[in-house]
Amino acid sequence: MSMLSFLLDILYPPRCPFCGSLLRADSNESFLKEPTVTTGEDIAGSEDIYSRRVIFKKSTKIICSRCAEELPWIVRGCARCGCPLEEGDYNCTYCSGGAYFSFDDCCALGLYRGEIRRAVHRLKYHGKMSLAVPLGKLLSLKLARMTWISSVECLVPVPLFGERQRWRGYNQASLLAGVIGKELQLPVLEALVRVRDTGSQTGFNRTQRKKNLHGAFDCSQELKRGSHILLIDDVLTSGATAHEASCVLKNGGAGRVSVAVLAR
Ligand SMILES: [Zn+2]
Ligand SMILES: [Zn+2]
Repeated sequence: MSMLSFLLDILYPPRCPFCGSLLRADSNESFLKEPTVTTGEDIAGSEDIYSRRVIFKKSTKIICSRCAEELPWIVRGCARCGCPLEEGDYNCTYCSGGAYFSFDDCCALGLYRGEIRRAVHRLKYHGKMSLAVPLGKLLSLKLARMTWISSVECLVPVPLFGERQRWRGYNQASLLAGVIGKELQLPVLEALVRVRDTGSQTGFNRTQRKKNLHGAFDCSQELKRGSHILLIDDVLTSGATAHEASCVLKNGGAGRVSVAVLAR
């Protein structure tokens, strides 16, 4: 630990991003450097198992043990849309119910409710930009367990409409992408632009959301043909935003688009 980080720790001791409780004093090294927990139980079954025990063991440097234990983490999610799956289920009701997405995979950290929802709101609407660091690190921890992560070539954050970003001062998806890029050592490419303000989608059904978002994005850069892109956003609800953004990326040359979000 450097002298500076030692002093910073005394002045601003690390706190749990969800409940604000103080974390242990020795808790600020990069957790990704730790060896992966490899007891059979933790890695049994599919690639996307993210057991409470693993979160509990590996995230004590980022969040408190109560939040690691009690928050609505998605322990097993649909590989396609990130929706939580019941034990023994392999098809989610969402995807088998006819939902079509242009993206290929989705990794969502937790459910969009309770403390997780409040943390996303603080990051997004209350100017708590610093929350992007612990939240992005947590998401990186889960992403590192996805089998497809090894082929990802770059991260692309979902952009905000220019005026909205000017008003907010930052784009939470770009902040998250910056943190994840650093943790996973992947470049961030601001390849998408929002060409139209789509307003709030609250109250729209899935079809209305898709229609509302059509033509909302433009690809501002030439993408490597067939490249694997990881699209970063804060939340995925109907999936309409990620669907539209991924369509544009694929039209721009991407071969595979995976999605990572804090909440689903
Ligand atoms: Zn906590
Ligand atoms: Zn699904």
